[in-house]
Amino acid sequence: MLQIRGLTRRFDGVVAVAGIDLDMAEGEFVSIIGPNGAGKSTLFNLVSGLDRPDAGTVRFDGADVTGARPERLAARGLARTFQHGRVFGNLSVLDNVLIGAHTRLRRVRPWFAPLELGLAALRPRAVAVEEAALRAEAERILALFGERLLPRKDAPAYSLSYANRRRVEIARALALRPRLLMMDEPTAGMNESETAEMQALIAELKARGQTILLIEHKLEMVMRLSDRVLAMDDGRRIAEGPPAAVRNDPAVIEAYLGHAALGHAEAGA
Ligand code: ADP
Ligand code: MG
Repeated sequence: MLQIRGLTRRFDGVVAVAGIDLDMAEGEFVSIIGPNGAGKSTLFNLVSGLDRPDAGTVRFDGADVTGARPERLAARGLARTFQHGRVFGNLSVLDNVLIGAHTRLRRVRPWFAPLELGLAALRPRAVAVEEAALRAEAERILALFGERLLPRKDAPAYSLSYANRRRVEIARALALRPRLLMMDEPTAGMNESETAEMQALIAELKARGQTILLIEHKLEMVMRLSDRVLAMDDGRRIAEGPPAAVRNDPAVIEAYLGHAALGHAEAGA
């Protein structure tokens, strides 16, 4: 599903991502760990089309998508969330999620869409039926978050708590029915019980067969969820393999201890 080769990104002097290779199969759960500044978010930006690599390739679902625009990747079924959550503050919770669903519809019938828009004017009832189906699906996705979002579905996203805004972002990504779901520190800034709740949700997505690429600082969660872990430091891969093996890898321990000594390890910045 995902094949990354030699991916490299430099920011004047700093090699943020230095020749990273990564393969993911359908249904796999891979986590990326590493101290702050290791290059994890930059790697996500390169894969999801928000930034372009200086070298290397990304193949997604059989196609070379190196440097492709984020809209094109989303239309192919790649959804991501951001470390510093991004929602449309002035839109309602439900509308935020519907944006994800509409992106998916453009993927199903991209060339047909303009024609359909024209026909829609002639078939208001069919459009209303489809819109109702989308809303029902969006509400089912909101229901995955228990009582957190559904009772607030008509509230503007800006009025939500920080944790709820992050949940909305994940709900929007899910509405895309992504083939690959990429989440950048979904529990950053969450307390212990919110983290446990998020972990349960992600475990549920995994149980449903969702392919997931996760950046996460909370190692306990990484250990429980991941099939495989990629550890990065200074843009490079320092270890990769089953969670327990990576956690006990001397290079990983040293990277974390070194940065912990500088007070950076779990800051989530
Ligand atoms: P992580 O997500 O692992 O904490 P990042 O990918 O955010 O790390 O950052 C990796 C390195 O690249 C850091 O040294 C960071 O300062 C640098 N970096 C990231 N984005 C930019 C940018 N847009 N311009 C300059 N430097 C950047
Ligand atoms: Mg980051």
